[in-house]
Amino acid sequence: KQHWSEFGEQLCSGSGISELMEDLGHAIAKGGDQICMLGGGQPAHIPEMDALWRERITALAAEPGKLEHALGNYEPPSGNPGFRSALADLFKRQFGWDVGSENIGVTAGGQSAFFMLFNALAGKFRDGSRKKVLLPLVPEYIGYANQSVDGEMFRAVKPRIEITGDHEFKYRVDFDALEVTDDIAAICVSRPTNPTGNVLTDAEIQRLTEIAAAHHIPLIIDNAYGAPFPNAIFTASTPVWNEHIILTLSLSKIGLPGTRTGIVVANPELIRSLSSMMSIIGLANTNIGQAITTPLIQSGEILRLSNEIVQPFYRQKSEQAQGFVREFFDPRLPYRIHRSEGAFFLWMWFEGLPITSRELYERLKSRDVLVVPGNYFFFGLEDDQWRHRDECIRVTFTMPEHAVRNGFRIIAEEVAKAYASS
Ligand code: PLP
Repeated sequence: KQHWSEFGEQLCSGSGISELMEDLGHAIAKGGDQICMLGGGQPAHIPEMDALWRERITALAAEPGKLEHALGNYEPPSGNPGFRSALADLFKRQFGWDVGSENIGVTAGGQSAFFMLFNALAGKFRDGSRKKVLLPLVPEYIGYANQSVDGEMFRAVKPRIEITGDHEFKYRVDFDALEVTDDIAAICVSRPTNPTGNVLTDAEIQRLTEIAAAHHIPLIIDNAYGAPFPNAIFTASTPVWNEHIILTLSLSKIGLPGTRTGIVVANPELIRSLSSMMSIIGLANTNIGQAITTPLIQSGEILRLSNEIVQPFYRQKSEQAQGFVREFFDPRLPYRIHRSEGAFFLWMWFEGLPITSRELYERLKSRDVLVVPGNYFFFGLEDDQWRHRDECIRVTFTMPEHAVRNGFRIIAEEVAKAYASS
C-alpha cells in the first residue's frame, strides 16, 4: 500500500464531497430522464450563450493566426496581456476601480486560484507557527474544505439567522462573534454564496473590509457568480475592490467551465506571486477561454450578455424553483428557504427535522433525486453539535424545468414523511 506524505494524505484519498461528486457522475453515466440531478454547480446550457461560443470559435478559426496563437503557444503564467488589460479597462470603466493589467492574474479556474492562495497565505510558517483562513459566515463553499496541504486550515463563525418572511430566512454575519486573532491570515467569503444564494450586504462587506485592513490581512471575495459576469445576482449590491481585497472571478458560470479560466484581482505583488505559483505548478494557463472572451470584454458586450441574458435566465429559474416549493410543500410544515439573492441554488432549512440531512439525501437518492446534504458546508466550525448543520440541503435549480419540478415534488414528499415519523 502506498505511503503518502502529508500532502498526499490530504489530497489523494478523496473527501466527503468527492463521494457525492462520484454519485452525480455515475447518475449522469446511468443516463435517463428519470434522474433529477439537483446536486452540482453546473451552469445551464443557455441556447444564446452556447450559440455565441460556437460563433466565437468559428471566428477564431476563420481569422488567420488567431486559433494557432491560442492553441499553439505557452502564454505568460499571469495570463494573456490583451485579456488582462481588457479586464482592467472594464473594471475601471464600469466600477471606477483603480486597476491596471498588473492587478489582474489568470489561473486555471477559480478553484486552483483558491488552492494556491489559501496554501500560500495560511498553513505552517517557518517559525513553527500556524495560521488559518477565517470564514465569517458558514455555510460556505464546499470546494474550499479540503484544499489545505497540511491539516485544518479554516476557522468558521456561525451566522445569525434572521427570519425574513413566511417560510423564508437569511443568514447575517455575526460580528459580535467574529474575532480576528493573531493566527488568522486572511478572511474569505463567497458573494453570492454557494450554497445558500446569500449576497452579503454592502454594509457587511464594508465592515469586513475594515476589519481586514485593521489587521493587515486580505479579505478574499469569491465572486464566481457575481458582477460584472455572470452577474447571477437578483438583489441590489455593489461590487467592491481595493488594495486590501483579493477578488476572484471565473468564466465558468457564464458558460465556459470547460475552458478552466479563473481571474484574480489584487495588488501587483500578490499577482506576481500567483504567477510564480502558476508557472511552478502548471507552467502556463489555459488560453482558449481568454481568446474566446477578450473581444467581448473589450467591447463591453459581456456586460450586455450578463445583464440581458444570463441574469434574467437564472432569476427566472430561481423564481420557478420557489414556485415549485410553494406548490408542493405543506405550508403547515416548518420548512424555510434562504432568501434567493443569487447563484444557482435554493438552500432549504427543515427546523427540527427528525432525520439528518444526510439521511434525507440517501432517501432522495433512492428515488433518483440528487441534492447535497447541508452538513458538508459547515467546515471549520468548532461546535459539531449544532443541530442546524444537519437540517439543511442544497438544491440546484439550473436543470430543465421538468427535472427541477419533479425533484421538488419528491423532496416535499420525503420531508413530509420524515416530519410525520416523529
Ligand atoms: N467559487 C465558488 C463559490 C464556486 O461555486 C465555484 C464552482 O462551483 C468555484 C469557486 C470554482 O469554479 P471554477 O474553478 O470553475 O472557476
